[in-house]
Amino acid sequence: MAQSETIHCELMVIGAGMAGMAAALFAARHHVSTVQVGLSAEIIYASGLIDLLGVHPIEKGRRWRNPWAAIAAVSKSCPNHPFARLPRSDIRAALDEFIDFLATAGLPYRCYKDRNADVVTPVGSIKRTYAVPQSMWRGVLAWHRKCPCLIVDFHGLKGFSARQIQSVLKDRWPALRAVRLAFPDLPAELYPERMAHALELSRTREQLAAAVRPLIKDAKMLGLPAICGTYQTSSVVADLQKKIGIPVFEIPTLPPAISGLRLKNALEQSLPSLGVTTLYNKKVIRVQIDGRGHLIFDVGAREKEITVQAQAAILASGRFIGQGLTADRKRIRETLFDLTISQPSSRRHWHREHFLDLKGHAINRAGLEIDECFRPLTADGRPAFENLYAAGSILAHCDWMRMKCGSGLAIATAYGAVKAYLKNR
Ligand SMILES: Cc1cc2nc3c(=O)[nH]c(=O)nc-3n(C[C@H](O)[C@H](O)[C@H](O)COP(=O)(O)OP(=O)(O)OC[C@H]3O[C@@H](n4cnc5c(N)ncnc54)[C@H](O)[C@@H]3O)c2cc1C
Repeated sequence: MAQSETIHCELMVIGAGMAGMAAALFAARHHVSTVQVGLSAEIIYASGLIDLLGVHPIEKGRRWRNPWAAIAAVSKSCPNHPFARLPRSDIRAALDEFIDFLATAGLPYRCYKDRNADVVTPVGSIKRTYAVPQSMWRGVLAWHRKCPCLIVDFHGLKGFSARQIQSVLKDRWPALRAVRLAFPDLPAELYPERMAHALELSRTREQLAAAVRPLIKDAKMLGLPAICGTYQTSSVVADLQKKIGIPVFEIPTLPPAISGLRLKNALEQSLPSLGVTTLYNKKVIRVQIDGRGHLIFDVGAREKEITVQAQAAILASGRFIGQGLTADRKRIRETLFDLTISQPSSRRHWHREHFLDLKGHAINRAGLEIDECFRPLTADGRPAFENLYAAGSILAHCDWMRMKCGSGLAIATAYGAVKAYLKNR
């Protein structure tokens, strides 16, 4: 059997979702030698919007305009919530640094500093979020001003209906029109990836613009599904605007979405240039501790291929979909270190009777309890390991889907975990 390669590093980041990506970025920016491992494909299931905090308490469904006021409220009423472990200035620094980084990676985002933005979704609802890809920002302004807009969808594109958006919003946005077109040069069944790829060609943009121009009439802006290129969105949007004659904005599509794919590409391509050793599409199979307390990881796609020896690690392995957590008939378990999971006393209490109950389910708040240094705790409240930190959705108390805090919480807790590691090392 071939001997496996051994990599030595200061910090191992386990996970390539938002939390793992952010942790690797923050560590690399502090010149920490970092190895990152995980399946990065998870990110394409995200919408590409960066939520910070939109709803609290879940039971009352209270929606917040100002995410910072919402964070203050969560920290007060739920002192074990991960946001309560972070000074507001750190959360802001984390978001600012991450968004600045995305801009340098060719994926600019926009946000209001002190309020959430409203984004029109593909089903016509209004989603409240913190940071929005620049290509979607004019849609935030268009909704805010209710200015005359044309939304275009395409024959054969599933999950995106301009007519549905128009019909859901017509009372609140009467100046919205909808039209369906044939997409130039592609077969009848359309996929956003292929459309985005096609729109990177000037010829396709010219054909689309020629079809849209006669329909503009009094519209001041044009909304398209998020298909304006995979790699060069800013220039695709700019060129379409020039050819069509009015500002163009993108509307998120259902996952897996091009806006998630853009995030994945930007992060995957940029982190190695910052010095991160990336082992994507591989998993940690086993962990051991050596005599000096260092962590030894067996990493591989199917079997052990690489050994990583690290002074410390950040666990950002997600929940059930990410496979950081698993559940059997009796309890919820953490999959790698078998860490203690804060969870309801019995399986009977995991879920409420109705799946769509607005109050949410206790299982979604199960996860790792952490100390002020982001270290997972044992049942008796001590750090499980001195040199193991945790970040992201694996942490307890955050039902990210209902609280609308997914990516923002992942980024902020990654910042907190890296900062704690730097302080303790
Ligand atoms: C459909 C969908 C829509 C979303 N929409 C939004 C949205 O609109 N706004 C928003 O802010 N957020 C959204 N999110 C949430 C967000 O993208 C993140 O999923 C969330 O923040 C959790 O990120 P995470 O990094 O903690 O976990 P995950 O994204 O689950 O990542 C976990 C990572 O850990 C890795 N891993 C697990 N076990 C191991 C192991 N043994 N070895 C190595 N690696 C391992 C996995 O491979 C994966 O890379 C959405 C998510 C989904 C799924």
